Amino acid sequence: MVIGAAALVAIGGCRKLVSSSHTSLLLVSSQCRQMSTDAQSVSEKLRSSGLLRTQGLIGGRWIDSYDKKTIKVNNPATGEIVADVACMGTKETNDAIASSYEAFTSWSRLTAGERSKVLRRWYDLLIAHKEELGQLITLEQGKPLKEAIGEVAYGASFIEYYAEEAKRVYGDIIPPNLSDRRLLVLKQPIGVVGAITPWNFPLAMITRKVGPALASGCTVVVKPSELTPLTALAAAELALQAGVPPGALNVVMGNAPEIGDALLTSPKVRKITFTGSTAVGKKLMAAAAPTVKKVSLELGGNAPSIVFDDADLDVAVKGTLAAKFRNSGQTCVCANRVLVQDGIYDKFAEAFSEAVQKLEVGDGFKEGTTQGPLINDAAVQKVESFVQDAVSKGAKILLGGKRHSLGMTFYEPTVIRDVSSDMIMSKEEIFGPVAPLIRFKTEEDAIRIANDTIAGLAAYIFTNSVQRSWRVFEALEYGLVGVNEGLISTEVAPFGGVKQSGLGREGSKYGMDEYLEIKYVCLGDMNRH
Ligand code: NAP
Repeated sequence: MVIGAAALVAIGGCRKLVSSSHTSLLLVSSQCRQMSTDAQSVSEKLRSSGLLRTQGLIGGRWIDSYDKKTIKVNNPATGEIVADVACMGTKETNDAIASSYEAFTSWSRLTAGERSKVLRRWYDLLIAHKEELGQLITLEQGKPLKEAIGEVAYGASFIEYYAEEAKRVYGDIIPPNLSDRRLLVLKQPIGVVGAITPWNFPLAMITRKVGPALASGCTVVVKPSELTPLTALAAAELALQAGVPPGALNVVMGNAPEIGDALLTSPKVRKITFTGSTAVGKKLMAAAAPTVKKVSLELGGNAPSIVFDDADLDVAVKGTLAAKFRNSGQTCVCANRVLVQDGIYDKFAEAFSEAVQKLEVGDGFKEGTTQGPLINDAAVQKVESFVQDAVSKGAKILLGGKRHSLGMTFYEPTVIRDVSSDMIMSKEEIFGPVAPLIRFKTEEDAIRIANDTIAGLAAYIFTNSVQRSWRVFEALEYGLVGVNEGLISTEVAPFGGVKQSGLGREGSKYGMDEYLEIKYVCLGDMNRH
């Protein structure tokens, strides 16, 4: 599907279809497939609501890329082009940093209550527009509309939570070591923050960073994924409407390495917060060293879901299903390995396969769809190669195991048994709708297998024994553990990984600390009258 001067080449580092035309919403051309009715009416509605933004946001103004290059955003369910957005790079990012730097002085000096009111208004607007934002997420990311609207509620909850938490950034008074001294601790905003986010949660991964950053008094330059910039831009439009001042929140997208380099090399940027792959996270961490920036990383996982003989079968099936198949398996906390104890293995395999068979694959706008497409063909190819590797080493497919008949990037929900630790899917993130069942004998085996990975983000255990659950969750080298529950993320609890799954925490009261510096003040000569 080629439109106008567009070409399937990397121009200036923008990896997708890039055109040199002015930014515009591309709907129908004679060479281009008609948009499906749902997608078309949704984008028309979004355009007239002013929420379909295609320019970057710098210093409170919507701006094209300086060289007018654009990048196309696709609907992964149909391949249709949804919009043509600005493809930005070094120059635009430097200007965004400069505007954030300038805005920091006034934004950080507002009272916490004043910042809180702005964030609360932003939350109200996000909720008021949750249908449209959900539609935008489905349009550019593919997840089912109901799940997308759920993401809006989840994403908005971070803005509400940090609107409240802004007022609770307390310091300390320390009993002095000498009688003529008084010792204080202040918590102050760190400064300009660079926030780089992935495509799988186009809204929530942004609000989870921007909420605490703005609440604490920081200003932010956000770089959303080039695959899903539209939701970020719509959220930024609502932030402006809520009264977030020019420069306090900027959005640039396009050439990821150039934008990343500009954020990382600038001494004005005091913190980098990143959610994405472990490989990119490591690069960013290294590049943050020369300017000694504070770094938070939310990286990949390899979550075990451990089903013990004494588990309630229904609870284990329901919990593992939710943990595995949310967003078609494309989340960092998705169960990547299902470890099942000997005594319940066959029963679980049967009941779990039955439940997976009921999942509805389809366009996210279709009523009843529970499984959308994968984000792009590279993602499907990765899943295919992992399945092929497992089968070649002796694993058996119980269900699925191939591309879906709908074509595009749809993949059949898959269950594979007799998976072992030498297979690639045991070691690396599948990021697709494939559930590998691994057999284990004892509790010690389960813990050893679960911890035998460089990742340490989420883990799930299913057991009816309180004693066992304590023993196991204490032994698991993971940042989050669900016990008899597969969906555990919430704005009120800390989210983050150990080992190579990352640094720092997001959400909850702990998430605020990532954006604050601690200043110790010693008042001397205090006995003088
Ligand atoms: P990714 O390829 O690492 O991309 C993440 C972000 O980094 C995107 O905005 C991307 O930009 C940008 N990026 C890529 N190369 C860059 C560079 N050299 N400099 C600066 N920025 C760069 O990851 P993804 O495929 O989007 O997301 C999937 C991964 O995210 C999975 O591993 C998943 O587990 C992880 N994830 C983790 C969490 C968590 O909380 N731990 C949550 C969600 C996802 P472009 O897209 O524009 O290229």
